[in-house]
This record gives sequence, structure tokens and C-alpha cells, in this order.
Amino acid sequence: MAATVKCHLCDGPLSPLPTAVLRSQVTSDCRAWPSAPNLAFCQSCDTVQKLITPAWHTDIQQIYADYAMYGQSGGAEQISFDLGAGAGMARSARIAAWLAGWGLLPKQGELLDIGCGNGAFLKAFGASQPGWTMTGCELDERNKLAIEAIPGVAKLHVGPMAALGRQFDLVVLVHALEHVVDPVSFLASVIPLMRPGAHLLIQVPDLMNSPFDLLIADHCSHFSAVTLSNAVTRAGFVVERLVDKCVAKELTLLCRQMVAPTTEIPEEAPNSDSGVMAAQAHLAWLADLASQAQATEGQVAIFGSSISATWLASLVGQRLQCFVDEDPGRSGRSHMGRPIVGPDQVPANIPMLVPLRPDIARSVIGRLSGLGRCFIEPPARQ
Ligand SMILES: [Zn+2]
Repeated sequence: MAATVKCHLCDGPLSPLPTAVLRSQVTSDCRAWPSAPNLAFCQSCDTVQKLITPAWHTDIQQIYADYAMYGQSGGAEQISFDLGAGAGMARSARIAAWLAGWGLLPKQGELLDIGCGNGAFLKAFGASQPGWTMTGCELDERNKLAIEAIPGVAKLHVGPMAALGRQFDLVVLVHALEHVVDPVSFLASVIPLMRPGAHLLIQVPDLMNSPFDLLIADHCSHFSAVTLSNAVTRAGFVVERLVDKCVAKELTLLCRQMVAPTTEIPEEAPNSDSGVMAAQAHLAWLADLASQAQATEGQVAIFGSSISATWLASLVGQRLQCFVDEDPGRSGRSHMGRPIVGPDQVPANIPMLVPLRPDIARSVIGRLSGLGRCFIEPPARQ
């Protein structure tokens, strides 16, 4: 590890995590990325993170230059499946419903969505709160027309946030903070954009429940409830709500500006583990999953067509026959030069690797057992 690399949240010293056997990564828009992650945790604030080296910056520039949001489903937002229930609801609609459920939002207000992507959250929030005026903020104008066509959107802002020159009642960072290389100062820079009493909503992957998030090359912080809450507090906010249930495998946090550094007690995090031990267990399990894929002989199919499936596909190479996806928006398409098919279309003699958390894998395999296909259960967690 380069001696000069320090924690990108608090400048604390870093301890490396073992990642070499993982061999490759995936970009957040699901392209295989041909290098192992460089992961570490901070000895001061415990945040699990990528090493922000000059090589990392070079990779990131290349990744963002070709970014294709939700490529496999043709631009539609990925459906977030309720574990076990099988019924899906788009992630953004869940967040909008969660926000509305707290009864904190006035009938009218102004929202700023930082890192609005292709406008998925703006669409869902606009439908939920039709009296609000919304502004999106992005790094470039590639989705400008689509975003400004969403009912309730005043404009897409491209450029420094300070140039917005005005304040908002609600600021959201949905799947943005984990990409930011200096999250604490970035969060502090949001405060001048907030009216007195305004709220900030953050959603990031939950390290405790997301082993595959460690493989996403452009995610530089891997937050647990504890480290996310600490980062937000250090930036000058008071945490009001922090849950891991709004969207499965995600942390959703609602906070407001700290009025004075007082006796306000932040809401207790849903899990008191900082995430370092979870990350170590995730990495050991990912190494087992990689070994299992390499030890499975002949042609294989891989269940899924997103992050974990892309990563496993990069390990099995030419032996991959197809991806298998239950999402009708994906089957019939192709990914990495291979077809995406429904579970009933996989030849019965082709073993199907299932790169899902063991409990989720068991539930999926149980649900599809009537198809008579050859599922390979992922290794157990150590
Ligand atoms: Zn730190």
C-alpha cells in the first residue's frame, strides 16, 4: 500500500484488506473491470474503503467516460425485489413512499437531487409530491432533455453546486455518496444549499448486507450504519432516521443540519458493528465463491445479470453459456456477449452458479426447484 494514502474521510491511517484472489471488479453500470480491488479500513473511523491512488483516479475517469446507466434493462430502473415476496417495486418509489410516510414534507417545497442520473428518483418523488418543484444536479448534460421533461422538474443543473445560488427544502443523495472521494467535506458543502429546517436524504449500499458492493470499482466508500452516521455527524448534521429496511441491502438516512453542537442524541444505528469484520467475512466468502466457479468444469450458466453475475462471468471466461434472469425486462437481451435467458430456458445439463448471499440463494433455488434445473448453491459463510 502506498504510504501516502490515508483515509479519505478522516485522514486516519489505513490497514489493507486481503483482496488479491478476487482478481477483478465490476463497474457500477455492470461492466467487468480487469483488476482486483484495493480495499482497506481506517484505523481511526473504521470506514471500509478503496485506496484513492492516482491509478484509481485513472480507472474512474475511464469508467465514467463510458457510463451507461442500467444497460442490461435498456435504461429502465432495476427492480428492487422484496426478499421472499417475489413482487418488485422500483427503488425510487420505495424511497419516495418512505419519505412521505414520515409526514415531514409540506405540500409544497423545493427538492434538489444531487447525482440524479437518468431521473429515476425525480420521477418517483414528483409522482408522490406533485406540489414540489425539483432540480436535478449531474456531472454532464447527457440526460438533460429526459430529466427536464419529468413533471415538476424546473431544470437540470450541471456544474459546481455553489453556482446553484439558492436553497432547498429537501436535498437527496441516492446512490451518490459512495462515489465521492471526500464524503465528509462534500456533505458539509451541501449545508449552504439547505434552507433552515431542511432535510437531507442519503441512500447508500449497506456494507453489512452487500458483499458484492466491495467489488464495485467506482464505489470508494463502503458504509455501515455506524460509519455512515459518523460521517454525517462529522459533516454537521443530526441523524433523524437511519434504517436498513426501506430498500433491501441499502441504508437510508434522513438528517438535518445541526443547529448547535448540543446534547442532541442521534438515533441509534440498527447495527452497532462498524463493518470491518463484516467486510473481512465478505472477502473470505467472495474468495470461496470464486474458487467454486473456477472448480465447476465445462460450460456454466450464471444466475443474475448484474454486479455479482458480471464479476463471476469475468472469472469463468469462455465457459459461460448464458446469464439467467427472472426480470422479464432483461431476459431476451444479451450481456458480455452472452444471452440472458429465463430460468426455464437453461439446458437442464448446464450447471447454474448462483452468486447470491447464501440465504437469498437458498430461497431462490427453493422457489425454482420445480423447473428441474441444476443449481449450484453458493458456499456457506465462514
Ligand atoms: Zn477514517
